[in-house]
Amino acid sequence: MEKLVRVFLFLQTIITELVGKFLNKQLQPDNFQTFLLNRKHILFHLYRNGRPCCACSRNENLGHQQVVKKVQFDLLYVQGNNTCNVRSYNHSCIYSAAPSVKVSELDVTLAITILKNCFANSLNLHELQSLDDIRKIRNDIAHNARNSDISEKEFCRMWSILEEAALKLAKAFDQEYFNDIKSKMRQQRDRRILATSEDYKEYSKQLTNMKDDLTESLGIIHERLISEIQTLFEGRGSPAIKIDKSDITATHGDQVVIPCSVVSNLPVTHVNWKRTSNNVSETILNDDSGYQGSTPVTPSLTIDSVKLNDAGTYICLAENAAGATISDPVTLIVNGGAPEVQILQSYYTNIYGKEVVISCNIVSDSTVTGIYWKKYYKNKVLRINNGDKGYQGITPTSPSLIIKFATSDDDGTYVCHATNSAGISTSNSATLRIKGGWYICVKRNNPY
Ligand SMILES: [Zn+2]
Ligand SMILES: [Zn+2]
Repeated sequence: MEKLVRVFLFLQTIITELVGKFLNKQLQPDNFQTFLLNRKHILFHLYRNGRPCCACSRNENLGHQQVVKKVQFDLLYVQGNNTCNVRSYNHSCIYSAAPSVKVSELDVTLAITILKNCFANSLNLHELQSLDDIRKIRNDIAHNARNSDISEKEFCRMWSILEEAALKLAKAFDQEYFNDIKSKMRQQRDRRILATSEDYKEYSKQLTNMKDDLTESLGIIHERLISEIQTLFEGRGSPAIKIDKSDITATHGDQVVIPCSVVSNLPVTHVNWKRTSNNVSETILNDDSGYQGSTPVTPSLTIDSVKLNDAGTYICLAENAAGATISDPVTLIVNGGAPEVQILQSYYTNIYGKEVVISCNIVSDSTVTGIYWKKYYKNKVLRINNGDKGYQGITPTSPSLIIKFATSDDDGTYVCHATNSAGISTSNSATLRIKGGWYICVKRNNPY
């Protein structure tokens, strides 16, 4: 559809406007209504051909083909209630120029018909050729009224003929207008079609604002393109996400793939995954380490080495210009493995004499049976167990290390260890520095 939209818009916007402007130039110094009045007889017989009218002279040479359709003629002329004494099959006399019709309201075929029939003598060969070419391409486009699109080759052929014709007609105007037409054509050719929602809005707007084409075939294309663009973007337009599984069970350390496929008429611009665990949702970014996929090309999410806190509910979101779709949820269950122990802050400073809490989180598939901490300082290691003097915490339910009265002796690096039936694991480390503690208290002598 895209190539057809492109060439259709070229014809219906740039070319139509240019041909209208070209016709206006030929009309000068008359206005359109005066022109219509003066040329009524010619135009009437382009509509009602074959048989003479009340205004015909004896040897009128009447064409045999209806060139102007009724709907086109009705745009140009209105019927009055003249009475006519001439006995005739046709009465052109009853028509007068439509009072408010403007050249800009004519479709390209009608404008060309007027130019060819009323101004042939004042146009040069290039201009006449251009008008013929435009009409021919317009008919070629119309023949595609029910085809889904045109081939690349056909597109290029139509485009280059229209482009050449446009440039030849534009030569009748000043350089500024010529350049303007040139740049408009380039824009229209290079313009992306339907890649983003902005494109969609703009195309929709352009198609909807475009005057109705009076001719049936282009009218069909016009309506079809509008409705196809609408359909493409509304409802059916956003991507469809397929996930076959609703839950996945993995063992700690496994590589886990949450498979999903995205089907979309439009280019998929964005894919991401979201994990919800304990009512906390977190978006997984494409470049988060430990993950692969989650891109428009590879939407499935791969977790390199699954951890217990990867467990949760996953949903995939895929987006294209028409909108975003959210997948059904997939539950990931992670079994086994030693506990996962994490210290959230890696550096603590504290004031001498105050309490310090080195917080630590533990996630474990099975019950945590033991906790202890180790302190590394001055090339020595101290193991700290629950119940050791000066410390609190260090239990499976409250694993954080609490130092009740911190002194510079507590300076060091701390790690936490947790055990369950599968094994023991070690956290990352945290460093503690205690400030102060070297106050010298001078007892003032009693001056009395
Ligand atoms: Zn006549
Ligand atoms: Zn008459």
